[in-house]
Amino acid sequence: MPNGETPLPAFDLVIRNGTVATATDVFAADIGVKDGVVVALGQVLGAGAREIDATGRLVLPGGVDSHTHIDEPRGGPTVNADTFATGSASAAAGGTTTVIGFARQGRGEGVRQAVEEHLARAAKSRIDYSFHIILTDPNPAALAELPGLIAEGHRSLKIFLTYDGARITDGEALEVLAAGRRLGALTCIHAEHHELIAFHTKALVAAGLTLPKHHAWAKPMVVERECVHRVCAMAEALDAPIQVFHVSGGESAEEIERAQQRGLKVWGETCTQYLVFTADDLDRPDFEGAKFLCSPAPRSREDQAALWEMIRRGVIQNITSDHAPTRFDGPGGKTVFGRDAPFTKVPNGVPGLAVRMPVLFSEGVVKGRIDLPTFVNLTATHAAKLFGLHPRKGTIAVGSDADLVVWDPERRVTITHSLIQDGNDHTPYEGMEVTGWPEMTVVRGVPVMEAGRIVAPEGHGTFLPRAPYEMIKPRGIFPGFFNPVDGVAV
Ligand SMILES: [Zn+2]
Repeated sequence: MPNGETPLPAFDLVIRNGTVATATDVFAADIGVKDGVVVALGQVLGAGAREIDATGRLVLPGGVDSHTHIDEPRGGPTVNADTFATGSASAAAGGTTTVIGFARQGRGEGVRQAVEEHLARAAKSRIDYSFHIILTDPNPAALAELPGLIAEGHRSLKIFLTYDGARITDGEALEVLAAGRRLGALTCIHAEHHELIAFHTKALVAAGLTLPKHHAWAKPMVVERECVHRVCAMAEALDAPIQVFHVSGGESAEEIERAQQRGLKVWGETCTQYLVFTADDLDRPDFEGAKFLCSPAPRSREDQAALWEMIRRGVIQNITSDHAPTRFDGPGGKTVFGRDAPFTKVPNGVPGLAVRMPVLFSEGVVKGRIDLPTFVNLTATHAAKLFGLHPRKGTIAVGSDADLVVWDPERRVTITHSLIQDGNDHTPYEGMEVTGWPEMTVVRGVPVMEAGRIVAPEGHGTFLPRAPYEMIKPRGIFPGFFNPVDGVAV
């Protein structure tokens, strides 16, 4: 080149001097990004158009939160507090770069209609996204829509076995499991024994026991444990892969472990709230307990210890937020029926997108319960693999999307709602002290959050279609003499 002319930078972005962590390794490396993709990991990289100094910082794969309810119509008086603009901002504020949300078929409605409406809402997202298809009415016409939608990349299904208006029968669940197996989609299940909950609830109401804390009384662990056992049996009989959502304590996790020990493709997810909240939080005064009201209900310290043990043993490898935001005082929120409303009228769910990674880092890595690669696996890599997004998402490797978090492992933060950047009016994590906080969140090479400020516009995110993948292929093993999905002898 002629004298005096500076060479064009080799990279769009270089993150230098950081400690890179993946689900398997921790190493010192600079990361070179070009056109949204990691193109180099090395120690003598050339110049970047933008350079970030990550001295003393970790550089982690952006979080993949595979269970988030953002801008999902809930029906009735309850209003989801987030649009995709606010939900994705909150995710980025906490280091998450990919969310899997839900396109929910209403009863009597088409499935494609639900997916298209949700794609339109998600167009505002600042981070990347995909959907699980919720089937609340898996009639033959709805099931007939699945081959096309799954082929377009909507490669996971969700069913509820409880909640009026959403739950399906066991017979319908078997039809969904069979469809998922045939078409190459993972079925995710909300597993609680509906009639047992209804029986408890009726008795509680009759006895005048309707405070927020009685929500936990309505659904003791046996309600979940029985249903987790049942869905594992259904998955075994149909040789259908499943993920059980929000495993909340020891007894349910033991059911997952037993299924895995028999070689079944059964995975269990837990959520941040089950590791830090207990049923006692539902008893906070002045209706504050309603902020912790979710399903399953938060359980006991013993259950938290059991979940950490199951995480250590690798039984549970995915920790999500189950972000389900309703405001406290605002429209359609927790107090929509007043501050003395019975628990049966309080919207379920807790917000948690932004705090998932910081709380897990602090409670897990800083407190010595898990190591750094396990943290990366729990917050990014496993979910990316389980839902067919890996290696594009969930790791730092040449060829992967440059979804990166620069993480300050020593920063001490007292969580307060202004840090969360969502559309809500509170966080149930208010006042919790954590060590470790994200400093910068990058999605496909573009900074979305820098020093707590959201810097990417609405719409930076893109839909992630998912191709067929090995992890959820059926085993081809049936417990009996007959393959009931294809109707042939085995
Ligand atoms: Zn959920």
